[in-house]
Parts: sequence; C-alpha cells; structure tokens
Amino acid sequence: MTAASGRLTDHAACADLVTAGAVPATAWDTDPHARPTPLNNHAKTICHTRCPVQHDCLATAIALTLTGDPAGRIGIWGGLDPSERATLTGHGTPP
Ligand code: SF4
Repeated sequence: MTAASGRLTDHAACADLVTAGAVPATAWDTDPHARPTPLNNHAKTICHTRCPVQHDCLATAIALTLTGDPAGRIGIWGGLDPSERATLTGHGTPP
C-alpha cells in the first residue's frame, strides 16, 4: 500500500506530491520495527507542515487500528509512524 493509494486522497499532500513525482510513495512506508529513515522523516514533515487532512488521516489510522485492521498499524499516517501511533492507542505494532 502506498501513501497515495492507502491514505486519504482528497487534498492529501502525499497524493499530490507522489503524483507530481516530487516524493516517492515509499517515503510513507515504514518497517514497523525499524527506526524511521531520513526519507520517512521527510514524509512526516510534509504531513505536519503541508497536509490539510492531517488530523483526518491520523484519525483514520487510529480507527483502523482500534477495529483490528492491520492497515492502520503500518506506515506513516497523519505524520506519525507506527510506534508513535501505538503510544497513542495502546496497541502494539504488528508482529
Ligand atoms: S497526513 Fe501525511 S500520510 Fe496523511 S494524507 Fe496527509 S500527507 Fe498523506
């Protein structure tokens, strides 16, 4: 799942930047057990500074996690990586 296809697409900064070829979609993909890469950190900065749907994106990931959908526990959503979201929800990262 890529940033452009997996997260909110209407007004999403990731979708616009990936479509424009400015940032690779993999920037929003993370290994749940790895520390964020420099590219991941760049993606998180975009989420925090350029995305008008950041809060909705994060809420979507948390809702997915709380309903047991593993998609919400993988990758960067709303500017947070899996371990940061796990801290918010109390749900661990995927095995
Ligand atoms: S908050 Fe980040 S991951 Fe979510 S839609 Fe915006 S740019 Fe994409």
